[in-house]
Amino acid sequence: MAFCQSGPAMGYSIFSLIRHALTGNRHWTPVWRDPEPKEFYDTIMVGRGGHGLSTAYYLAKEHGVTDVAVVEKGYLGSGNVGRNTTIIRSNYLLPHNTHFYEKSLQLWEGLEQDINYNAMVSQRGVLNLYHSDSQRDAYARRGNAMRLAGADSELLDREQVRAMVPGLDMENGRFPIRGGLLQRRGGNVRHDAVAWGYARAADRRGVDMLQNTEVIGIRVEGGRVKGVETTRGFIGANRVGLAAAGNSSRVAAMAGLRLPIETHVLQAFVSEAVKPLVHQVVTYGAGHFYISQSDKGGLVFGGDLDGYSSYAQRGNLPLVEDVMESAVQLFPQVSRLRYLRQWGGVMDMSMDGSPIIDRTPIEGLFLNCGWCYGGFKATPASGWCFAHTIATGTAHALNAGFRLDRFATGAVLSEAGHGAQPNKH
Ligand SMILES: Cc1cc2nc3c(=O)[nH]c(=O)nc-3n(C[C@H](O)[C@H](O)[C@H](O)COP(=O)(O)OP(=O)(O)OC[C@H]3O[C@@H](n4cnc5c(N)ncnc54)[C@H](O)[C@@H]3O)c2cc1C
Repeated sequence: MAFCQSGPAMGYSIFSLIRHALTGNRHWTPVWRDPEPKEFYDTIMVGRGGHGLSTAYYLAKEHGVTDVAVVEKGYLGSGNVGRNTTIIRSNYLLPHNTHFYEKSLQLWEGLEQDINYNAMVSQRGVLNLYHSDSQRDAYARRGNAMRLAGADSELLDREQVRAMVPGLDMENGRFPIRGGLLQRRGGNVRHDAVAWGYARAADRRGVDMLQNTEVIGIRVEGGRVKGVETTRGFIGANRVGLAAAGNSSRVAAMAGLRLPIETHVLQAFVSEAVKPLVHQVVTYGAGHFYISQSDKGGLVFGGDLDGYSSYAQRGNLPLVEDVMESAVQLFPQVSRLRYLRQWGGVMDMSMDGSPIIDRTPIEGLFLNCGWCYGGFKATPASGWCFAHTIATGTAHALNAGFRLDRFATGAVLSEAGHGAQPNKH
């Protein structure tokens, strides 16, 4: 996949658009190169999803490490970075997570200027509905934790929610809505533009993008990583970073590592386009369901995991029924809509619901995984922290808690509170 820009060193601007418009748009050139793999790189990133791309970009930008290849088995954006429901937020509870995700939200806020790419960052607000007194108290606690970490949060009562989202069925039969926790700075970002934008920005700093290049082995000698075996031959490296999301366990197994990760399917749905109904991202507090509306008018929604482990990027029908039931409970009017598209992605579910960004016991091999169903919003901070860890060999304060050995030491970060049961997250 190659999109066009106005020359390798040219940035996007109103002036370049005018110039191309006046010359018939005949001089756009590919946005990133399609190089042959070199025999050796300083650093190889495995996986060209959001996290592999952002890591490559911040390695180059923040640490001057430009001898980097990002190796991808499919095409750019074929994984979860192009399959998610595009929600960004920093409404977490535990200290490690609140600070990390708030950093990510701050990076989103400056991302388009930073990478010179329109990613359609839309801070339309994320509203988590509550339906009982105890849930309100839990959200008040979460909102306070967010504020202590520098994030914004507001606890809304029932009438404020009614005024903000008039389409909601406040009295819905089973779980009447009592209020909501709002993060105004949360919202949506166009996910494939994030992949394209980071790829272009990393390419411009000298990073090689290698598509259709599957890693089929990781060479380790004397406890040190030497490079990766790929479908296009062996590529040597001083350092290898794994960012394979739903395939993390498979890729890490190539180096003899067994991860505390289960891979589960998550589905998303898009309806036919309608006039504006939901201006925010709204999540259901009495069921696993969330919804937003795309700029084209389609309702974008999703719900729970499919509930079984799989590496197939497709889901099953019982979950479709489950999600539609929740949709109709909150917005009865959508019962007359047709849904147009549905797809699945494979989620790297960690045993405590929090991510891993760390070194591994193998010298030169680094690990980034455990994003569960929330890794899109983490894309900028994940890359920023992973680049720091790879470049310096030590964790940044922001990812110091995301250690691999926490599952052995017991210092887990159980954000979802379900412990080692990813199917219940
Ligand atoms: C339906 C759905 C909805 C979601 N909604 C949200 C949301 O609203 N907000 C949010 O924050 N998160 C959401 N997520 C989660 C988020 O998309 C993921 O956590 C995140 O994208 C994972 O990181 P990534 O982008 O690097 O993954 P990916 O894009 O999956 O990147 C990993 C890449 O590794 C490649 N790879 C795997 N094995 C190999 C190999 N052997 N060799 C080479 N390459 C390999 C894959 O092909 C893939 O491209 C959602 C996910 C899904 C599926």
